[in-house]
Amino acid sequence: MFARAPSSLKYPVFQIDADAVMGAGVHTKEFQVKTTSENQVVDITKDVQRAVSAGGISNGLATVFVVGSTAAITTIEYEPGLISDFPATLERVAPKTGVEYEHQRRWHDGNGHSHVKASLVGPSLSVPLVDGELVLGEWQQIVLVEFDVRPRTRRVVVQMIGE
Ligand code: ZN
Repeated sequence: MFARAPSSLKYPVFQIDADAVMGAGVHTKEFQVKTTSENQVVDITKDVQRAVSAGGISNGLATVFVVGSTAAITTIEYEPGLISDFPATLERVAPKTGVEYEHQRRWHDGNGHSHVKASLVGPSLSVPLVDGELVLGEWQQIVLVEFDVRPRTRRVVVQMIGE
């Protein structure tokens, strides 16, 4: 897939073999997560594994992406302490009350802090796929974090690239 760059280049970089990349498969799956409350942390590891199993890619990369700007995807050890600590920590960075948000001034939808938290954590995660399995630690779960102020139905897209 990768070939050595011509020796005329100053730094030891690699160039991508375009044919090899075009030959790689891309599969996209999607599932929904219904959230019930702000700061809810949902373990979606099994849903992602199911999408990967149905995807037909054994080796490559799986990108897990939540559609929307008030939720996020990351990994965490899914245990009650951290499920409480993680949103509480973000609350100290972008508090729901006591701070004036320009987003609130413009839109009056009460979720300026939600947008800021979601942007900080990010909407996606890339996980290596090896022999059809997601490479995750035993105490490392993939989670969707709901930051919006009302229940939402979230679309989670899992896009796999590889062979
Ligand atoms: Zn908003």
